[in-house]
Amino acid sequence: RLYNELIELRGNIRVFCRVRPLSANEISNGSSSIVEIDPSHETELQFVPSDKDRKVFKFDHVFGPSDDQETVFAESLPVVRSVMDGFNVCIFAYGQTGTGKTFTMEGVPEDRGVNYRALEELFRMSKERNSSIAYTFAVSILEVYNEKIRDLLDESFEQGKKLDVKQTADGTQEVLGLIEAPIYTIDGVWEKLRVGSKNRSVGTTNANELSSRSHCLVRVTVRSEHLVTGQRCRSHIWLVDLAGSERVAKTEVEGERLKESQFINKSLSALGDVISALASKNSHIPYRNSKLTHLLQSSLGGDCKTLMFVQISPSSADSGETLCSLNFASRVR
Ligand code: ADP
Ligand code: MG
Repeated sequence: RLYNELIELRGNIRVFCRVRPLSANEISNGSSSIVEIDPSHETELQFVPSDKDRKVFKFDHVFGPSDDQETVFAESLPVVRSVMDGFNVCIFAYGQTGTGKTFTMEGVPEDRGVNYRALEELFRMSKERNSSIAYTFAVSILEVYNEKIRDLLDESFEQGKKLDVKQTADGTQEVLGLIEAPIYTIDGVWEKLRVGSKNRSVGTTNANELSSRSHCLVRVTVRSEHLVTGQRCRSHIWLVDLAGSERVAKTEVEGERLKESQFINKSLSALGDVISALASKNSHIPYRNSKLTHLLQSSLGGDCKTLMFVQISPSSADSGETLCSLNFASRVR
């Protein structure tokens, strides 16, 4: 409750910045870090691409290379918890390929990310709460690639079954035919999440390549029923690992690859447009400009909560893309 009141006071859109460590490769190539974080100003990031150039960017929180998964999740808790109060939530990871989007959302087996930790927290809360409310959870995992939706929990998805977004009678958006896997305990959730992410890369020779060009969305549906009054409630949390935001030079790509990059640009800028329209309280919110925003329409805006991780590289070699991501972040905040 208290957490939600705090969120209420500060608006419904949070933007966090996360800077990954310099990799061993970057260090051996002579790259240096061009971002500075002052631990006593955890909402500020200094971008220092050269001696003469210093720009300050403001966030709701900045995580540096030494901040671990637990620290990052702790700051995300209020937003995650609000799902149990019936709010719809979207958590995104935005950024250039290689900046840690998948690390933040999915994590690695020994160091799990937001997706798993969020489910763990929901289970924990459901046990802790009023025993007169029965909670049930279900997970769906899907991919948006070239404006097409694919169900990553569908074993037969390779046959090319394409899903679409439909408006339901109550005015919300649904993906008809999307598999919703009920989950009863936290055991097995990690496996389910891994199946989804594994299927995300099926169909190409280079798994990493495709996964960086599609959006991967995990949807957790929380249903509650009050055992005395019979009152029912449903809410969603969407956990979204976005396609890489890097721009590819038009001269470098053609055919399929060019089409892909145009779809990615279109959907990421549509997402930026929607969030900045929401942040500036515009009356028209352009949800229909991409599959991604259309799909998330009933979980963005209104009293829904949005959390965006802007992931960046600290490396001098990535300064151009880093600046683009920081500018994107300034636009949505
Ligand atoms: P993306 O999904 O944005 O392409 P990844 O999540 O695959 O990026 O991260 C690229 C690499 O950097 C991976 O090897 C990942 O484990 C590592 N990495 C990313 N962020 C961190 C971090 N905060 N701490 C340690 N390693 C990280
Ligand atoms: Mg990734």
